[in-house]
Amino acid sequence: MATINDNYLKLPGSYLFAEIGRRVAAYKEAHPQADIIRLGIGDVTQPLPPACIEAMHKAVDELAKAETFRGYGPEQGYSFLTEAILKNNYEPYGLHFGTDEIFVSDGSKSDCGNIQEIFGLTDKVAITDPVYPVYLDTNVMAGRTGELQEDGHFEGVTYLPCTAENNFAPELPQEHVDMIYLCCPNNPTGTTLSHAELKKWVDYAKKEDAVILFDAAYAAYITEDDVPRTIYEIEGATEVAIEFRSFSKTAGFTGTRCGYTIIPKGVTGKAADGSRVDFNRLWNRRHTTKFNGTAYIVQRGAAAIYTEEGKAQVKETIAYYMENARLIREGLKAAGIEAYGGINAPYIWLKTPNNMPSWDFFDKLLTEVNIVGTPGAGFGPCGEGYFRLTAFGGRENTLRAVERIKKMKI
Ligand code: PLP
Repeated sequence: MATINDNYLKLPGSYLFAEIGRRVAAYKEAHPQADIIRLGIGDVTQPLPPACIEAMHKAVDELAKAETFRGYGPEQGYSFLTEAILKNNYEPYGLHFGTDEIFVSDGSKSDCGNIQEIFGLTDKVAITDPVYPVYLDTNVMAGRTGELQEDGHFEGVTYLPCTAENNFAPELPQEHVDMIYLCCPNNPTGTTLSHAELKKWVDYAKKEDAVILFDAAYAAYITEDDVPRTIYEIEGATEVAIEFRSFSKTAGFTGTRCGYTIIPKGVTGKAADGSRVDFNRLWNRRHTTKFNGTAYIVQRGAAAIYTEEGKAQVKETIAYYMENARLIREGLKAAGIEAYGGINAPYIWLKTPNNMPSWDFFDKLLTEVNIVGTPGAGFGPCGEGYFRLTAFGGRENTLRAVERIKKMKI
């Protein structure tokens, strides 16, 4: 008899975006003329940089000729891409990784979700709250948690609240944990951790023999000097941290798919026989067994963001989104709504007026001013009473949305 992985049954249905879609569809049916502006889902809207397009066209032509055709490539990524990543994203900070410490993938969702497979099933997990749901859900699926409780928390998980009260900087756990998920810049709050705050976590991980799983999918959006561009800027992090990066929000690869993970060889865990084993070795085994490489065409496109033209084009698109972020932030302020984030990230996290539950605020925004955002409660219990707007829209829609919010009665 085939049985199922019962851990999957602990998960609530994928409620957030399905429920948003349902409410928007119902409203649209009742009000077919409504001009709805969507600032909800975190997908980009601007096209790929021309340098990437050109590189991908060239790669397609290479595949058309026997002499330049490429079939299976190295599972860990082509050296033209891994070398460009290390040279541009790490060497400027004095960080020197080997090309065998980086793994190119089809995006960081897969990596953030799959990484837990190389950790022991009894490891204690700590997760910031609110946060990108993939870390929690994949640990639930693996059986590292108990049941979902009525208050919205899973048993056996250490939640690290991040609210306006602690300036969105999580406190160190009181108890021992083994795996710590940090997302910086954070989705959904758009906030970051300073060097000093991140140092606390690296020191904790060293002391507790824990590993930090550091999701830096939005690193390209950081503008402030005191925010580390990579966790490896913090002394000691190469012994305790794994870093995830993505080309999705950096350069519009959400549909094209490319990301990478850095696993320094110094990051180790304890085997059952008491010996130390580096996670790099395990991930390499997993990656080469379960993954067959990111498409050559896509890797050529990704590498093009490190050319002079590519860098300039990426910078321009990021500046475009960040101007949207500024407009939203200032618009909310003018409307008397407290807002956070939007300076080092394309997300604005607002406090709902009069402590309104986040789904009620969703309905208010949808029905009164026809704007779709994302209720904070969908990202964890501490997201209740907050709401996320994204800066990934077009400029015109962003401006129109801001004008509507300013006129809204709160
Ligand atoms: N990590 C965070 C924090 C995200 O918000 C996202 C996407 O929204 C991802 C990872 C996944 O990115 P990718 O498109 O590379 O899978």
